[in-house]
Amino acid sequence: MSEKDNKLLSIVVPVYNEEKSLPELHEQISAACQKIGLPYEIIYIDDGSDDGSFHRLLEIKKHSPQVKLIRLRKNFGQTAALSAGFDHAQGEIIISLDADLQNDPHDFPRLLEKLEEGYDMVNGWRKNRKDPFLSRRMPSTIANWLISLITGVKLHDYGCTLKAFRREVVENIKLYGELHRFIPAIASHIGVKITEIPVHHRPRKYGHSKYSFWRFFKVILDLLTVKFLLSYSTRPLQIFGTLGLLSGLFGGGIGLYLTYIRLILKQGISNRPLLLLSILLIVIGIQFISIGLLAELLVRTYHESSQKKIYYIREIVGINSNPPQD
Ligand code: UDP
Ligand code: MG
Repeated sequence: MSEKDNKLLSIVVPVYNEEKSLPELHEQISAACQKIGLPYEIIYIDDGSDDGSFHRLLEIKKHSPQVKLIRLRKNFGQTAALSAGFDHAQGEIIISLDADLQNDPHDFPRLLEKLEEGYDMVNGWRKNRKDPFLSRRMPSTIANWLISLITGVKLHDYGCTLKAFRREVVENIKLYGELHRFIPAIASHIGVKITEIPVHHRPRKYGHSKYSFWRFFKVILDLLTVKFLLSYSTRPLQIFGTLGLLSGLFGGGIGLYLTYIRLILKQGISNRPLLLLSILLIVIGIQFISIGLLAELLVRTYHESSQKKIYYIREIVGINSNPPQD
């Protein structure tokens, strides 16, 4: 355990109306951290709760100097809450978990062990998930399968908040919308070494879940966004252009065939539905290529204005590691 000596551990917990769970949760997290023996901080982010959560957190903070409290102005959602926590975490190692006691702080040491082995991020896998089947587990299984198919990152459980990260990972990931489920995919895209371990999962004891079955559809739409951002955001013309060319060529082919019929065989073509199809495909083709070109322009502005890099460095040896400021 020598490598982790004296590293600060940050625990990040998004809280939305979890009043009843908080005292027990805090006890469990504190006990787990003390057992690990590293210096630690616990960051609770109150995501605009309208029950007594913030009050409870203030009480907890009175007795625990390790606690940091962030209170968001309104309910911005779990992704935003996590993001606020990551921005304020000072530890070299960061662990996130839910506030509803469904994740188990006893799993912390096993997550840390995996980081020790050289991974940059360890994902929890609720192998024996204690949630209702129809509304939660089934849609989640389908979503997990689709996410791993489309992003190419093979994990079992993208929705599990219990995760451990090295600091650099968190610093390099920007979270928007409801994208926390895609942290592994985004992280893998920037070259982070990821693994997963089975973790405990407990039924919800207090309060109720903040999500319903409908989240499934949002996840699928987010998946589209993520796939596009990860795979094509630096080269949109490749995807739109390919579609445009295919459509245009197909439409053009049909057009040639109709021309042959009209000019050589001298038959009328005005009553042929194929004529409409040909025109439609050619117009769609032109549209797609134009959208691709516009997207290329946008992407350039986007990357320059946000100073987003198209590469991510693991380490630099022998030269000043501060990149030139331009
Ligand atoms: N959460 C949050 N903001 C929200 C919704 C949820 O901070 O808008 C927190 C919530 O308090 C909990 C975690 O995110 O700590 C996971 O939420 P929940 O348990 O409802 O999700 P489930 O476990 O049912 O997927
Ligand atoms: Mg939960």
